[in-house]
Amino acid sequence: MNKLGLFVAILVFSSKLFAQSQTNDYQYNIDLLSEKNNKISVSFIPPENNLQQGKFVMPKLVPGYYDALNFGQYVSEFRAFNKKGENIEVKRLDTNTWIIPDLKNIAKISYQVAGGWDSLMQRTSSPKSVASAYKKDSVFILNYSTLAGYFEELKNRAYRVTVKKNKEFFPSSALDYTPKNDTTDMVSAKDYRHLVDAPVLYCVPDTTWIKVGTTNVLVSFYSKQDRSYSKNLAAKIESILKNQQAYLGGKLPVQKYAFLIYHEQIPRGMMGDGLEHSNSTVCLYGSKTLDKLPEALMGVASHEFFHILTPLGIHSKEVQNFNFLHPVLSRHLWLYEGMTEYATIHMPIKQHMINLQQFLKNIEGKIKGMDGFNNKLSMTEMSSNAIKMQDQYMNFYQKGPLLGLCLDIRLRELSNGKIGTQELMQKLIKKYGPEKAFEDKDLFDVITALTFPQIRQFFKDYVEAGNPLPLKESLRKVGLDYNEQAGTVVEMRTPSTAEFSLRKAWIDQ
Ligand SMILES: [Zn+2]
Repeated sequence: MNKLGLFVAILVFSSKLFAQSQTNDYQYNIDLLSEKNNKISVSFIPPENNLQQGKFVMPKLVPGYYDALNFGQYVSEFRAFNKKGENIEVKRLDTNTWIIPDLKNIAKISYQVAGGWDSLMQRTSSPKSVASAYKKDSVFILNYSTLAGYFEELKNRAYRVTVKKNKEFFPSSALDYTPKNDTTDMVSAKDYRHLVDAPVLYCVPDTTWIKVGTTNVLVSFYSKQDRSYSKNLAAKIESILKNQQAYLGGKLPVQKYAFLIYHEQIPRGMMGDGLEHSNSTVCLYGSKTLDKLPEALMGVASHEFFHILTPLGIHSKEVQNFNFLHPVLSRHLWLYEGMTEYATIHMPIKQHMINLQQFLKNIEGKIKGMDGFNNKLSMTEMSSNAIKMQDQYMNFYQKGPLLGLCLDIRLRELSNGKIGTQELMQKLIKKYGPEKAFEDKDLFDVITALTFPQIRQFFKDYVEAGNPLPLKESLRKVGLDYNEQAGTVVEMRTPSTAEFSLRKAWIDQ
């Protein structure tokens, strides 16, 4: 190589080193230090492409909420720059979409993103757990669905995100953040769904790690009142997670899980908002003191953590390829929410954390809760139409677990006590897992093939057709008497040996 060649080679090498250049990925820069008037600066380099134009999308909906959230509402000052640094005019089509001409020559896009709320008491147009919140010198709660978007033409690309932050701040998230220096962190996600599925809490750390089996669980807490409280919460969470681990057969299907808990002092009462993600949960709490927080969190933590089974490990293609602009919803919310809530009420009795009387009270509570809804609706239809049928949605947490109860008893009955919903979920997670989605329409046939031919009729009657649940009949099989008029469930005076042994297989009582 002659001297000139060497010189050129060094020049090319160093320009690659010092300037971010286009790759196959979205390269995002989020600057928390830029926060001003509740807005932060966000920019990104689009993936390399050959497109005449591109349609940029901010989510209209996200998984877990069945109402339009329109995250484009937080975005302003949207600008595109070509490779010469010239400003290229873009067209905003509606709240959530922009058309960018000559995308192949666009080097950078920048915009401002507003925070969604300041205080838990404030009225906002969107739920707070899905929005981002900025408090410059104390805490940032970042939901990437408000910060990042994607081009419809360039989906399924990886994201590399650089976050500029206050040097005392630490990121808590299900994703692993790598510090580049005091004020810069880097994080990657394999695609948009994985990015928005992992919110992050930035603040001076109050964190406690617990180990449950081989799973590392992060409990990260922010409250102005107490900056060393995470260990109190972690102690409570640990006891419940250890029981969940035993209930799930000893091994948990995730390596890392994060509880991101924000607390704010409010004058009276207690308020909460939260959203589960595959490997994390955001919990927002308001109360006067912290005393009741551990108990309140226990109830939420159990349900949310059970979501590591479904939808994380067991979900359909509609969930895997979630369309953030025009979602087609899966028909299996009975599984994602119903079976999750069933595990939440079934685990404490199976693990001997509560006695039979307390368990029966919980069942009565679900039966009473179901009263306020139309119980003749098909659960598969309610699920596919969850956006239109929001008034019925909460029934997945009432009728859903009772359906799980009937299914569990029916499976135990057909298998001589050997197989229940615990084993069924293990079979399903083995067959599918986080990366392999099932076909929505095939799931009942798959479950039937994995269990017993009679189970197909069960799903036909109680999930597809919406017949009233066979609660009385199911509970009688395990020696329990459900009085439909009084809404009570009590032990039968003289259960037969068969009823008694089926109950033992079901709840170990
Ligand atoms: Zn849930």
